[in-house]
Amino acid sequence: METILFLSHANAGKPALETLAAAISLKRDDGTLIVGLFGEDVQTAANQFAGCGAAKFLGVAGPDFAQARYASDAAAAEALVKAAKAAIVVVPATSRMNRIVSGVAHRCGGRADTHVTGVSATGVTRWYYRQRMEASLTRTQRPWFIALDPGCHTPYTGEPGTVTVESVPVTLPAIRTTVTGVKAPEASQQTIRPDAKLLFVAGAGWTKKQSDGQTHVPEAAALIMGFLNATKASLGSSKSLVDLSGEGQAVLPFMSHLNQVGQTGSTPRHPKGLSTCCHGEEPHAVGWRFIGERRAINLDPNCGWARGKTDVLYVADAFAVMSKVNELLSART
Ligand SMILES: Cc1cc2nc3c(=O)[nH]c(=O)nc-3n(C[C@H](O)[C@H](O)[C@H](O)COP(=O)(O)OP(=O)(O)OC[C@H]3O[C@@H](n4cnc5c(N)ncnc54)[C@H](O)[C@@H]3O)c2cc1C
Repeated sequence: METILFLSHANAGKPALETLAAAISLKRDDGTLIVGLFGEDVQTAANQFAGCGAAKFLGVAGPDFAQARYASDAAAAEALVKAAKAAIVVVPATSRMNRIVSGVAHRCGGRADTHVTGVSATGVTRWYYRQRMEASLTRTQRPWFIALDPGCHTPYTGEPGTVTVESVPVTLPAIRTTVTGVKAPEASQQTIRPDAKLLFVAGAGWTKKQSDGQTHVPEAAALIMGFLNATKASLGSSKSLVDLSGEGQAVLPFMSHLNQVGQTGSTPRHPKGLSTCCHGEEPHAVGWRFIGERRAINLDPNCGWARGKTDVLYVADAFAVMSKVNELLSART
């Protein structure tokens, strides 16, 4: 009989719902599920999880825990794990939890596995070598901390209710970090949307000389942004395109290295993906591991996508295709 703790900051959103559902699936008939939350207010989130079958709800709440900060987050998480006497601790792999999970595991004498993509009674799965190899792992060491990557489990959908949250005392260490605010791009420039149904990838071709011998970067930017605004797709990029700014070439102003998909970029999860003006070389295409249905537009019938890396390849000019697509999208609305 093992105690499973679902542990999270209170405002973790969808990743928390997915991880809670995974924690529920782990609980055997004779096991116990406990919910542990920290943040400025934990009651609202706890109420949302009311129907999850937890034996109890533990919380660390207050203004000290409002902002992500290693010292206070780790102290809260450690107190919750110890109060729950948890054997297995399942956390959503948000940046806030990822930052503390190994430190807290160490403080509790446990072990942590990160970037987990699946949990079951027999162990966990995760990918290695940039998603080229999948491994199944199990551990005897307890407590075992499991950080579940977002997008890997169906979210919890139980009815909300009202629960009693047991407050867990925390002795805060000396706090040397003051969070003064968050610097983020303007909302309109926020092009990375993990929950989007579609990943739209732009490659370096958008900035290359076209059949008239000229580059058309402003037109490329307008076409890409027009499509993103109409569809709310997430924007990915090839490495070549995001590297161009470092080489002093004309670049798409809304593109940064955070958009890069691939071996040295990200491995996003979306049901569909559309690649445009990108060659589809292996170091890029390896980042498409978790994209369900793939399509690509490229002038070159011998590009990498044509070699089994996409379901449909349109051998066409992406400027022409996307301008027609945007026209159809605006006629629809
Ligand atoms: C160790 C290592 C790690 C790497 N990691 C990554 C990574 O994480 N991510 C990544 O992306 N790359 C990575 N790369 C680089 C990768 O190998 C490629 O160089 C890069 O992906 C190429 O980018 P691209 O396809 O946008 O550009 P290009 O190779 O320049 O391709 C541009 C494409 O645009 C097409 N095109 C041009 N005009 C049009 C048009 N009008 N319509 C349609 N198509 C058009 C061309 O036919 C061409 O295929 C890595 C390489 C190494 C060695």
